[in-house]
Amino acid sequence: MEKQIAVIRGDGIGPEIVNEALRVLEAVAEKYGHQFQYVDVDMGGIAIDRWGQALPREMLDRCLASDSVLLGAVGGPKWDGMPGDQRPEKGLLALRSGMGLYANNRPAKLWKQLAQASPLKQEIVEKGIDFIVVRELIGGVYFGEHRTDEVNGEQKATDVMSYSEHEIERIGRIAFETARKRRKKVTSVDKANVLDTSRLWRKVMHQLAEEYPDVEYADMLVDNAAMQIAKDPSQFDVVVTENMFGDILSDEASMITGSIGMIPSSSLGEGSRGLYEPIHGSAPDIAGQNKANPIGTILSAAMMLKYSFDMDEEAAAVETAVNQALDAGLRTADMMADGCRQVSCSEMGDAILGYLK
Ligand code: NAD
Repeated sequence: MEKQIAVIRGDGIGPEIVNEALRVLEAVAEKYGHQFQYVDVDMGGIAIDRWGQALPREMLDRCLASDSVLLGAVGGPKWDGMPGDQRPEKGLLALRSGMGLYANNRPAKLWKQLAQASPLKQEIVEKGIDFIVVRELIGGVYFGEHRTDEVNGEQKATDVMSYSEHEIERIGRIAFETARKRRKKVTSVDKANVLDTSRLWRKVMHQLAEEYPDVEYADMLVDNAAMQIAKDPSQFDVVVTENMFGDILSDEASMITGSIGMIPSSSLGEGSRGLYEPIHGSAPDIAGQNKANPIGTILSAAMMLKYSFDMDEEAAAVETAVNQALDAGLRTADMMADGCRQVSCSEMGDAILGYLK
């Protein structure tokens, strides 16, 4: 297969971690006979410095002309003093809306070698944690009307939450399709005992569930979901939910797995093109020191192989290689533990490449 990948190295540790992910992608291409072409895209602080804006139109066009987009991270103290609408993160929001990405997918997977880093009790961790939160990204209360009025001598604030059927259906489809590539179980999280948006959400999800009889389906109220993630996360495979609930639950889900440097994510819209990035930021405190953990970015590249390019075997090979590097006791500084060997960002990349080949 031939694929064009837009590559956004970004700021801080971005270039270091993306570099390791590109080496892994090249090794996959060589091993499985694919051709990947890379197109450089400036976004974030580096684009502000070079072009005067966080995401110039030409850079967005390069992403839209590619089969998928790989991103490191953007931002840093150099641009912190800039007005909100000119900051590096603005580029990220512009990219998401420019690419029409309405689904954010964040896996919560505990690597058994890092089980000690989980804040959960070991008897819970031992049952395994491997699920994905599919969060609606461009609707709901974050995108509704926000207003503060003066009423009867005091201030009254209002935020409007709304969802239409098509917005629910398209995120639901992503969840069911994702489940088909995993353990075939969807849990839809809502607050249908209180909210009209949730009752509509539930109705649309039930209709969709009939179209996917091979996928097991369950509803769960959001307050219960927050408890169940801490109590027995092994019960989940794909959790689908609206924007604000997803914001909160996906952070909770990341937290229980221990290390921020290990977690990939994808954002998807219509079609197979997606934006793949680790969940962490640009880590300015360790930038340029070859210390960063590249695994979150390497696993983001693996997600791209699986979900955008249908290369399931290739993605599994990358995950296996990561597993082997961890089994061998190799750790970057952020996840260093007794009895392990501390390695740099590029040494971790070398090791994963070695196992992949
Ligand atoms: P951060 O995620 O960059 O860093 C938090 C802590 O985790 C730091 O101690 C950092 O060294 C560590 N860390 C993060 N990723 C790591 C990795 N791969 N390996 C080892 N250690 C790692 O969050 P922050 O410090 O709040 O933000 C720094 C900058 O990143 C800010 O400018 C922020 O706006 C930006 N940011 C960008 C994104 C993005 O690009 N998607 C996301 C979050 C924050």
